[in-house]
Amino acid sequence: MAKIALLERKCSGCGQCRSVCPFGAVDWKDNRPELNAACRVCGLCVKNCPEQALIRLETRESSVEKNKWKGILVFAEVSGGRLHPVGLELIGKALELAEVCHDPVLAVLVGSGVRDYAEELRHWGVSQVYVYDDPARPGSGRTRTQPAWKNVSGTRAPALCWWAPQASAVPWRRGCPPGSIPG
Ligand code: SF4
Ligand code: SF4
Repeated sequence: MAKIALLERKCSGCGQCRSVCPFGAVDWKDNRPELNAACRVCGLCVKNCPEQALIRLETRESSVEKNKWKGILVFAEVSGGRLHPVGLELIGKALELAEVCHDPVLAVLVGSGVRDYAEELRHWGVSQVYVYDDPARPGSGRTRTQPAWKNVSGTRAPALCWWAPQASAVPWRRGCPPGSIPG
């Protein structure tokens, strides 16, 4: 099943998505797009959004041990002494999706002194937080986050993974095979 999701913090309200949609599926509310039931998930708006504020979400379709894949895994980045807002927004979207598919929302935290943020994530509704805290190694660069991500996705086998490092473009994976690394 696929759907288009809006990352509201990234949206500038330019209206480009509304202009390009061939199906009249983009309504306008509070200066932000709102997709309606006419959406065919063609992806045209995603391609044309200058802010990369729209993402296409797809749950994994596999007949192989489908029941073992459970949970929506989100990378929660700590930046400038706080949880990065894009990560929090992804968690918000994950919670919306979780209401539909009844999967738990999981998060990975990597860095130095990040342990306390786990409680904040729990406060936002994350069921389980995997903390990789190493006070001796500040920062959360790729060499640290990839092994942590690989470890969690390999042992926990989530059905869906979201990853938004440094609030840049939002790569996403269609399903998350155990051991796979985002990027
Ligand atoms: S094209 Fe992107 S930035 Fe512009 S209104 Fe649509 S979602 Fe927002
Ligand atoms: S995915 Fe296609 S149909 Fe859906 S809102 Fe975007 S452009 Fe319109």
